Amino acid sequence: MARYISLAQLHKFETITEALEENGRRINILCRIGGDDFNKLAGRLMDCCEGIKACNSLACKLCNRQYRLKRVDDLVTLIHTKKRRWWVVTIVEYSRAFPFEDLDSLDVQKSKDRLRKLLERSGMEGPIVGSFEIDYHEACGLWLPHYHLLFPSTLQNRQAKENLRKKVIKQQPHHIKRNKPARPIKFQRLKRPYTQISYNYKLVSNAVRDYECRRTGKMRTKKYRLADEMFCRSLCWMDRIGRRRLLFSFGERD
Ligand SMILES: [Zn+2]
Repeated sequence: MARYISLAQLHKFETITEALEENGRRINILCRIGGDDFNKLAGRLMDCCEGIKACNSLACKLCNRQYRLKRVDDLVTLIHTKKRRWWVVTIVEYSRAFPFEDLDSLDVQKSKDRLRKLLERSGMEGPIVGSFEIDYHEACGLWLPHYHLLFPSTLQNRQAKENLRKKVIKQQPHHIKRNKPARPIKFQRLKRPYTQISYNYKLVSNAVRDYECRRTGKMRTKKYRLADEMFCRSLCWMDRIGRRRLLFSFGERD
């Protein structure tokens, strides 16, 4: 099997053309809903697409693509130089879910500080990196905050793992939907670095819809683009807070 040397080689990773097309759709929706804030953001995205001025906005697929490509390539290079295993870890903050209208008062910094404390108290060591993400669950009308993280599987962290798991389960005992078991923390071995780490840096908010699988009858979820006005508001929120605010790191000097 050919060894990848860049995220850009993966079929699933969007091309520049696809990023431009996605920006085009974002601009269309922003202009269609209209209003000062949405129009202004659309204008900046347009200037970025046309190469007039890079916007570097978290709402811009093109600028996020560039960031993600470099970040993921750098991380995979770093991983290959360290002879150790890694995990990708998801932590879901069910108890911090909040309604759509509260998006603008969400304090991401506070959330990240809490997580850093939790990692510290559990005895985890860095570098732990990744991002904060929110998805909108339509069935209950709540944004669900969560983290996608990369952990080194050092001896210290293997010993601290159960500690962290117990603390997270204690803090997040209930799913936001009734009859669904809470799974607030998930460790997975890093096996496909480009795919799994790029997933950690999606930098996008989706709507999550529940459906019953026709074959198995089981309840499953699928992600969609947010409804137009919500989508515009989430883009403006992303634009306002900026990319750095969503990025998480703990003990990254290593
Ligand atoms: Zn841009």
